Amino acid sequence: MIFLDLNQVWLYDAVHELVRMAFPGDDLTRQEGSQYDKKVSIYCEWSGGTARVEIQVISKRGTSQAARDFDVNGSEAERLRQTKQWVRHLCYEILCDHAARDINSYGILTGMRPVKLVQRMLDQGIDYGEVVQALQRDHLMQGQKAGLLLEVAQNNRPFLPKPQTSNRAIGLYIGIPFCPSRCIYCSFPGAVLSGRPGQMDEFLTALEYEIKTVGTSLKELGYRVESIYLGGGTPAVLSVDQSERLFGLLNQQYISADTAEITVEAGRPDALSRDKLQVYYRNGVDRICINPQSMNDSTLQRIGRNHDREGVVRAVDWVRDSGIKQINMDLIVGLPGEGIRENTHTAEEILKLNPENITVHTLALKRGSSLFNSHDALTAVARVEEVEQGVELFAGILRGSGYQPYYLYRQKYMQASMENIGYALPGNYCLYNIQMIEERQTILGLGGGGASKFVDPWDWKLTSLYNPRDPNSYCRTVEILTRRKVDKLRALN
Ligand code: SF4
Repeated sequence: MIFLDLNQVWLYDAVHELVRMAFPGDDLTRQEGSQYDKKVSIYCEWSGGTARVEIQVISKRGTSQAARDFDVNGSEAERLRQTKQWVRHLCYEILCDHAARDINSYGILTGMRPVKLVQRMLDQGIDYGEVVQALQRDHLMQGQKAGLLLEVAQNNRPFLPKPQTSNRAIGLYIGIPFCPSRCIYCSFPGAVLSGRPGQMDEFLTALEYEIKTVGTSLKELGYRVESIYLGGGTPAVLSVDQSERLFGLLNQQYISADTAEITVEAGRPDALSRDKLQVYYRNGVDRICINPQSMNDSTLQRIGRNHDREGVVRAVDWVRDSGIKQINMDLIVGLPGEGIRENTHTAEEILKLNPENITVHTLALKRGSSLFNSHDALTAVARVEEVEQGVELFAGILRGSGYQPYYLYRQKYMQASMENIGYALPGNYCLYNIQMIEERQTILGLGGGGASKFVDPWDWKLTSLYNPRDPNSYCRTVEILTRRKVDKLRALN
């Protein structure tokens, strides 16, 4: 347990993620009198144009501390902004010293979408060299990560909506929150089909209501759907009839000549069939995600998947036969029992299948997952250096095979504080993924776990609305959530 002792409340937001990165897996408390074995104290005071910052870190490694004065100037809000930045600088420095390692290759940046910062710099006309320097100087980022962020931003920038134009294109996400079994690293609450009769029907009735109500409003307001992403869970758990009915509705309400991309995240190959792929193809689906995570059978068994490597290869063959033109495959670096040898095998096997997109994730240790709560599985998780090497290995192999990184995001509790990177062969970038991560286009999230982001095209201001992931909660609240969604759409208009 880490005790975080702060003399100013606002310091919490500035430093808590950095502190967690220095002590991965530890809980954090601000409660006086709690039991703890690590303590981070941060004291900050202003005097005129100077901010005094004092930081002390105590753990079984010993004590590290520093005190420094920083010049801050401008309005009160500006002085607060500068002070937060300096506190983060000093905190990062002391925590790295204390841990005797770089706790975060992204320096003081801990947000999920670091590429957005680069896009904002490019908006201001800052040249590429200065962008990389600013990331290293102002955010203490490693040079290699700064270069990666710039590359991703350059690759996806042509697909972003232009600023300050009335853009009526939106993205649509539909969440099917069911899976055939639960992966050990998953913390998704409603993931596994309960077997209760009627559970899926209840969910689909609620979803149909939401699709129809939101679709009617979109038409009234003159929006057009540019991309659709059916995610989950595992949308391929829907039967042929259920899929047919869902796509019938989507065709009535959303799909038009303006719809440039429709993805189904089939996810588990064991949930897919040739018949389902035919339904997708007939309804305009042009992108399928088959997510093996690893191509090593022993790992697949260990992480709770119901399929093996052969099942993945078979599913890819079916997709190719179906006529659907793009395949994405998700992989995870850092899985229990995996190191460089296993990663190399996975990379070789995946490349034999020639997918147009490959997404390389770094394992995130999520608190609600059975992995996090199993001592044996946790001890088999790859070490930080192995994860870093694995991420590098995939980057090298994929780039060498012509793939380009085009979207990137981070998650809490990721191993080695790395990132998830979407790679694609030229001409095969996924529009939905770009808009979802860069947050410059409104995305409507329907169904279980659907996240809606309402973007004001004049200043990229964002408001969010989340549907519950748990199917029962979703069914109970769908009417009120749909009303809120429609209200927010009208307010944007
Ligand atoms: S397929 Fe995805 S949502 Fe389903 S259990 Fe595995 S990680 Fe969770």
